Amino acid sequence: MPLYEYYCPDCKSKFELLVNHKHADDIVCMKCHSEKVRRLLSVFAAPRGNSEDYSFDDSSDGGCGCGGGSCGCH
Ligand SMILES: [Zn+2]
Repeated sequence: MPLYEYYCPDCKSKFELLVNHKHADDIVCMKCHSEKVRRLLSVFAAPRGNSEDYSFDDSSDGGCGCGGGSCGCH
């Protein structure tokens, strides 16, 4: 089964789950049980060029996670 990463906008938490494809869009938040969780890109084997729903807000770690400046995106 693929490992999916989910983001819950209600409690602003991320979590990962191993889920069957059939249930990949039928997930509730592990913390607050919200049904608004969004599936992020698969952690493993993310298909190239597939930008589906790549607009999640990941500002908690400064955006790119490089720690500040080393990647040149700031
Ligand atoms: Zn939640």
